[in-house]
Amino acid sequence: MNQQMKHWGIVGGGMLGLYLAMSLAEKGQRVTVLESKEALGGLAGNWEIGNTTWDKFYHVILLSDVRLRKLLKTLNLDDQLNWVETKTGFYTEGQLYSMSDTLEFLQFPPLSYIDKLRLGFTIFYASRITNWKALENIPLTEWLMKLSGKNTFEKIWLPLLRAKLGDHYKHTSATFIWTTIQRMYKARRTGLKKEMFGYVNGGYSRIISALKENLVNKGVEIKTGHPVKHINPNGEGMVKVTDDQNQTRFFDEVIVTVPSSIAAEMCQNLSVEEKKRHLEIEYLGVICASVLLKKSISPFYVTNITDQTPFTGIIEMTNIVDKKSFQNNSLVYLPRYLKSSNPIYHWKQHQIELLFKNSLLNMYPQLTSDDFQVFQVARAPYVFALPTINYSGKLPPISTSVPGLHILNSAHIVNGTLNVNETLALADKKLPGILQNAKNRELTYEPTIY
Ligand SMILES: Cc1cc2nc3c(=O)[nH]c(=O)nc-3n(C[C@H](O)[C@H](O)[C@H](O)COP(=O)(O)OP(=O)(O)OC[C@H]3O[C@@H](n4cnc5c(N)ncnc54)[C@H](O)[C@@H]3O)c2cc1C
Repeated sequence: MNQQMKHWGIVGGGMLGLYLAMSLAEKGQRVTVLESKEALGGLAGNWEIGNTTWDKFYHVILLSDVRLRKLLKTLNLDDQLNWVETKTGFYTEGQLYSMSDTLEFLQFPPLSYIDKLRLGFTIFYASRITNWKALENIPLTEWLMKLSGKNTFEKIWLPLLRAKLGDHYKHTSATFIWTTIQRMYKARRTGLKKEMFGYVNGGYSRIISALKENLVNKGVEIKTGHPVKHINPNGEGMVKVTDDQNQTRFFDEVIVTVPSSIAAEMCQNLSVEEKKRHLEIEYLGVICASVLLKKSISPFYVTNITDQTPFTGIIEMTNIVDKKSFQNNSLVYLPRYLKSSNPIYHWKQHQIELLFKNSLLNMYPQLTSDDFQVFQVARAPYVFALPTINYSGKLPPISTSVPGLHILNSAHIVNGTLNVNETLALADKKLPGILQNAKNRELTYEPTIY
């Protein structure tokens, strides 16, 4: 699209904001990124775990993450990608099982052959569905119960749904499980067989640094430590962005990439209906412990848990990443997904540590208190939007009623799980519409000339 040069403000320096900035700069646009935190990356950000800089939240790359792999190639990081065959565990009724291939699945004791057949059928059937829209109107529980049967639903699905969604599974649509199965199915090369996961040497910290360097080379201005407070039209066709120090900046176009609840507060001139739509999006947040242990606890990357535990899964990162990166320790992540209004979200680190540690010690008898080297908790209040019934029909528009103001965030992912590849795909899909909207505005307003 032949686009006149404009000055674009991107609010949010997570993967979405940075990728949009890169795409706009490649189209010859002038771009400024405004990020509230001192560091870029958002949910893909990093911190020190022991002596190593690594992801705050566990991240892996799938072979099927085509857009992300293309970006890594652009950033000259494709030769830094490592692929590892992984195994999946299942912790149920106090026992840990491997569920990494068809044979192990068939030997899985908690389910009868009929139950296993129905579970296998549900997964296979879901992997073949292409019309996800029809699933949006079906409650998740109803759909799973019908396909898998009561026993499998209660023994497998229900504990897993509770673990991932709390009680919110009750008003979630069948698309939730469909998107999850689709992604995991793609991760396996063939059927219920091997799983390959990848990571870049140095983790997401390396990816974000390379992305930043690429943006700077393209002339993108990056402002970190700049929390945006308000975004208003200036009355002359431009968009006024005010930060927490009451400093103002003017842009021809602004794309806000922060979660909808924050966006609605920031953009006061949205219509009542737009604000309502943003505020009605229900987000789940996460508390996620990064734990360095002297020893490994299992051969599994992910261990799904159907028993009652304070965390909702176990991710042993060092079953993918070389332990040498962590001074031969094991890095284990313990996430718990919950709404940020849940009091546990606000618990002090030592309270979470006590609860999580005791539970882990109970689950793995080979583990002792002395094995814990590091225990630190990361929190994110708005991680993913719950796909409620008729979700896509309730979404707010991307180009808003405020001229020049666009709001695009992960809530606009309607037929995929939350992951970086989907985030980049969302940007690729929606940017042409945003550019068209901006171009249409040229008829009524003269952009600034540089
Ligand atoms: C526990 C966990 C595990 C995950 N695992 C994987 C995985 O294995 N593989 C995978 O591909 N993906 C994974 N993801 C998802 C991945 O991290 C996200 O898809 C991606 O990072 C989302 O990027 P984003 O830019 O849309 O959002 P965010 O990262 O949330 O970016 C939004 C940015 O806006 C900034 N911001 C907020 N308010 C303001 C303000 N007022 N002013 C300016 N800036 C503001 C924030 O600081 C943030 O940097 C995981 C996420 C979590 C939480």
